[in-house]
Amino acid sequence: MKHQFNILLAEDNPVSSKLTENILKKAGHEVTTATNGRQALELFKEKFFPIVLTDWMMPEMDGLDLCKAIRTSGSEGYVFIILLTARDSKDDIVAGLKAGADDYLSKPISQPELIARLNSGIRILELERSLKKANEEIRVLSITDSLTACFNRGYMNEHLLKEIMRSKRYNHPLSVVLCDIDHFKQVNDTYGHQIGDRVLIAFAQILRKTIREKIDWTVRYGGEEFLVVLPETEFNRGCLMVERLRQAVSQMEIEEVNKTIKITASFGATGFDSDTDDEKISPDSIIKRADEHLYKAKREGRNRVCGGPL
Ligand code: GH3
Ligand code: MG
Ligand code: MG
Ligand code: MG
Repeated sequence: MKHQFNILLAEDNPVSSKLTENILKKAGHEVTTATNGRQALELFKEKFFPIVLTDWMMPEMDGLDLCKAIRTSGSEGYVFIILLTARDSKDDIVAGLKAGADDYLSKPISQPELIARLNSGIRILELERSLKKANEEIRVLSITDSLTACFNRGYMNEHLLKEIMRSKRYNHPLSVVLCDIDHFKQVNDTYGHQIGDRVLIAFAQILRKTIREKIDWTVRYGGEEFLVVLPETEFNRGCLMVERLRQAVSQMEIEEVNKTIKITASFGATGFDSDTDDEKISPDSIIKRADEHLYKAKREGRNRVCGGPL
């Protein structure tokens, strides 16, 4: 089934407008009408229309100026514009296409011709839709770790700096945690790499379940090492959240055929707030500090949180 589109129709002649509107509605589309180019442009600025049908000769702003204005408006998607005109000399057609129209229709309008030209526009818009969808899917894949569905290092490289800059700009605190699964090599050695993979997936799931949705984010930093970014979070509150994470991990039971696997993890936390010296704050310095605390947590016996402000 064809998609339904929101169509903007600009036409100053009421009879012609009604006739065209009825054809478009019968074809299943939503139609918004304007009686001149200026009014149409105002409607367009309020709401995006993927299809615009415009008469050429109208008071206040004609169809050509409307085409030009739409083309330079930086709209959110492609706009397929059909110019409706009684003028159909070659020069007029060229002027219309030059102003930005995709197609033109001679008046009086024939219903089958309008529908046919509309459908060729719809083919273009549907192609645009499928390209946008494919692009979005590629974008998500390019920033996601395929095993754990956490963000990958590429995403971290771009976004940690942005997150830090935003916190600094608004004088907000930020906490960051590095986590590493304890003795994970033993999990692989005991149960095999495939079950090791499933343990990693379960670990990533519990991280995501424990942090705040849409605020905090997790990165697969290395094999069994994850970074958790906690925006708007004072270091002390961050430590409480990390302690919750540590407990959740240690209580988790991963059920595999005939066995229950339990793991623990170690955590290194750091963070900054508005009192922190600006010079100290960078992605590298934050990760380095979190890593030092993680190393300390490992040294002190694992399954624990170590940390300190930046
Ligand atoms: P520690 O407590 O000191 O962190 O000990 P560990 O055994 O966890 O640390 P080590 O660095 O010795 O081993 C990490 C292991 O993680 C080794 C590697 O094979 C495994 N690993 C890394 N990536 C993956 C993966 O994608 N899948 C699986 N199954 N294992 C992985
Ligand atoms: Mg007119
Ligand atoms: Mg480890
Ligand atoms: Mg490790």
